Amino acid sequence: MARRKVLDELADEEAGLRSHWYDILKYVKKDLAYVWDDKVKSDFEAIKIELERIMHILRELSSHYKSTDNEAYAQEIKEIDRLMDYLKEVQASKEWVRGAHKSLQRVIGYIEKNKINIRQYQGDLHIHSQDSSEGVPISGSNCGGLPVVEIIRYAGTRMGQKFIAMTDHSRDADVKSALEYWGPKGKPEVAEYGDGRVLSVYQRIDAIKNPSLKVFKGIEVNLLPDGEFDSKLPSSSEVKCVNCSIHPNLDREGFAEIKHDPKLYTELVLKGIQNPHTNIMCHIGYGCDPGLIDALDWGRICSEAISNRVAIEINVLPLVKKLIFDEILDFGKFKANSTDYRDYLRGKLSEESSTYIGLLGDSQIRQMMTPYFPNGLRIAINTDQHWSPFIGGEDAKRYGWFRKFSNLSSRNSDFRIKRIRFFVCLKIVEKEFQGIFSEVGITSENIINSYPPKKLATFLEKAA
Ligand SMILES: [Zn+2]
Ligand SMILES: [Zn+2]
Repeated sequence: MARRKVLDELADEEAGLRSHWYDILKYVKKDLAYVWDDKVKSDFEAIKIELERIMHILRELSSHYKSTDNEAYAQEIKEIDRLMDYLKEVQASKEWVRGAHKSLQRVIGYIEKNKINIRQYQGDLHIHSQDSSEGVPISGSNCGGLPVVEIIRYAGTRMGQKFIAMTDHSRDADVKSALEYWGPKGKPEVAEYGDGRVLSVYQRIDAIKNPSLKVFKGIEVNLLPDGEFDSKLPSSSEVKCVNCSIHPNLDREGFAEIKHDPKLYTELVLKGIQNPHTNIMCHIGYGCDPGLIDALDWGRICSEAISNRVAIEINVLPLVKKLIFDEILDFGKFKANSTDYRDYLRGKLSEESSTYIGLLGDSQIRQMMTPYFPNGLRIAINTDQHWSPFIGGEDAKRYGWFRKFSNLSSRNSDFRIKRIRFFVCLKIVEKEFQGIFSEVGITSENIINSYPPKKLATFLEKAA
């Protein structure tokens, strides 16, 4: 009879465990990608006992949550800790453990299948250049700082990318400031440049013999307050990648109302997406109130993007430029032999994710976009690069606007340390993105930067 009682108790406990496990599985599915690194993976494989394997994963998740110090995780930690206590005390039957182990394996299989590696990132589709003479730009963007030939060489050889899109501005994004800057230098026309300057970038691309990667001639075209482009170039067959952007400073008066009104802004974004030449809708919300962007009609934006074959840009300029290049690579802030920058970067990515991971870093927008990924929503993760401490060359040194950044030689040990540090940063960023991708259900099919060049070219040829 005593035996009967113990079995009944155990059955009750198991029912509790089972329902508990289903609750927790939600978190496991969402967050395992954050902790599923090579070490955890090999430990997991070394453990042969199913119950121990479950505990191993839960322990990793629990300690990860604790280190992130994020309120949203408080509940999850509590749940996981409770289950671990249960598991320690209750002698769960093999059957239950086997069931739980199986569902864990399914989650792991899903993560493995959808884990997107930084090496799958084949190329950047938003880059600014500038070839200059006597410090005055003669082609490219007024706000770019690197010669076309050097950008292409670096992306193809050092970064091992398969393609790149050179996307200089159709007009300066802030004509007034540019006039103020360039006016005294006697070259007001550089601030008001038009299609001719972008065309001269294309000549520079054509002059490169055997580039080591596919170069798409692109443009970052301004969307005017009335929804029209400010350039005729996108309709030319020569242009292969049309990035459409709203830059409110281009016309402060014209955008004054739009940048505060989510309805008007949504309408304008939709006009940009519906333009038959647009390939990528860039940095939505740039230069607007922080509150505006959550209030946009993301459902309409996403479904129009799908039906018009337009990718939504995840712009990581603040991450690459402000956080990594300006701060983390600064030896004044993090000494050459320091590794503190790693925790610093992780902290910034989790605490200020909407700044550094763009639209995908904002959990509200992420949730609103989620249903559209299985239906074919595409994103483009772009750096919007204007300069880089790693791209130099004689041209950059002589003429570059940013020549003070280009004085590092690759034989210099500081330069090598910075390069290594940069790659460590990319690996940390990769992990953060993997967590988001698995939460939202983004696969490489959704990310156009992961396409082979031919497939990307087909995607971009939308007018055909
Ligand atoms: Zn822009
Ligand atoms: Zn740009």
